[in-house]
Amino acid sequence: MFDFSSEVIQAINSKFAAACQWDIPLAQFTTAKVGGPAKLMITVRSKEELADAAELCWQYQLPLFVLGTGANILVSSKGFNGVVIHNQANKIQMEPDQTPPQIYAESGANLGLAARKAALAGISGLEWAAIVPGTVGGAVHGNAGAYGSNVQANLTVVEILQPNSDPVFWNVEQMQYSYRSSTLKNSRIPAIILSAIFHGIKEDPSLIKAKMQTNSIHRKKTQPPGASMGSMFKNPPGDFAGRLIEAAGLKGTSVGGVTVSPIHANFFVNNEQATAEDYWQLIQKVKKDVYDKFQVKLELEIEPIGFPYPTARPTTQIDGEQDD
Ligand SMILES: Cc1cc2nc3c(=O)[nH]c(=O)nc-3n(C[C@H](O)[C@H](O)[C@H](O)COP(=O)(O)OP(=O)(O)OC[C@H]3O[C@@H](n4cnc5c(N)ncnc54)[C@H](O)[C@@H]3O)c2cc1C
Repeated sequence: MFDFSSEVIQAINSKFAAACQWDIPLAQFTTAKVGGPAKLMITVRSKEELADAAELCWQYQLPLFVLGTGANILVSSKGFNGVVIHNQANKIQMEPDQTPPQIYAESGANLGLAARKAALAGISGLEWAAIVPGTVGGAVHGNAGAYGSNVQANLTVVEILQPNSDPVFWNVEQMQYSYRSSTLKNSRIPAIILSAIFHGIKEDPSLIKAKMQTNSIHRKKTQPPGASMGSMFKNPPGDFAGRLIEAAGLKGTSVGGVTVSPIHANFFVNNEQATAEDYWQLIQKVKKDVYDKFQVKLELEIEPIGFPYPTARPTTQIDGEQDD
């Protein structure tokens, strides 16, 4: 268990006292509405504050986790024994007269809002993003995508901060993107996304808005309402996780307060009573049943925090403590 020393607490308070919340439940900050407490949450409102908070954590070797809108994470009921930086650095700027036209956003900006502002400015490219929940940072981290496009197709550069160095710009190749993945998501190297620049092409705003509306109507028809993390598993090559889960007869299956959606089998919906452990057990059951029936190993798209999973962050990274 990691303890904040009085020296550390003093250093945090000297910079961020007004932005600190101690022992705060994370359920209210995740779209699935589950998750135990963070030892400390620091809310930042600009990329400079984001950088300062990360550097402070690195200086004192505090376990650190950047939270966007929590639309792709499953936090265990044990919570996170470290610092959660709640990223609300949300500046967005359009450059329609650049060649190509550009969209600049701080990493805590809402991705959908950036896409809608691009539409108003007559910049096409991010239409797919208008319906994807989350921040620009979360999307860049996980190569979010929809309707045949993704971050990889639109990203020009991303501003990255790592310990003991000034921010640098990585291009799309350096992010080593693959389907819902990046070098940051895979490697867990300490790195913070401060901002990103996307490129688009000039288009009539009404045409862009029409594409967004078509996507939005389709999504409302095919995805369930209610608290979830969106797609739980990645689609295996040449197939769909939702199709496999449905074919295994798992639609409507529940563990505790979580149910495999009868509308879209890759969505696991919280019926308002669920715990993170209910989610975890349902994940294991679905993986097992799909494997037993089709010999396909489903891989999580979401990121578990505090669960025993190869790429999962432990609740604390101090002293090599293991989660059970
Ligand atoms: C209803 C619903 C529908 C969805 N549909 C889609 C879809 O169509 N396509 C899709 O791709 N996803 C979809 N998702 C998943 C989710 O929207 C995306 O994964 C989104 O990009 C997550 O963004 P976030 O800000 O919520 O990230 P979070 O969940 O807060 O964080 C995700 C990861 O990114 C890291 N991270 C976030 N910001 C930073 C930063 N600034 N620096 C470093 N690391 C950072 C976090 O530490 C964490 O590891 C859906 C989710 C829901 C709930």
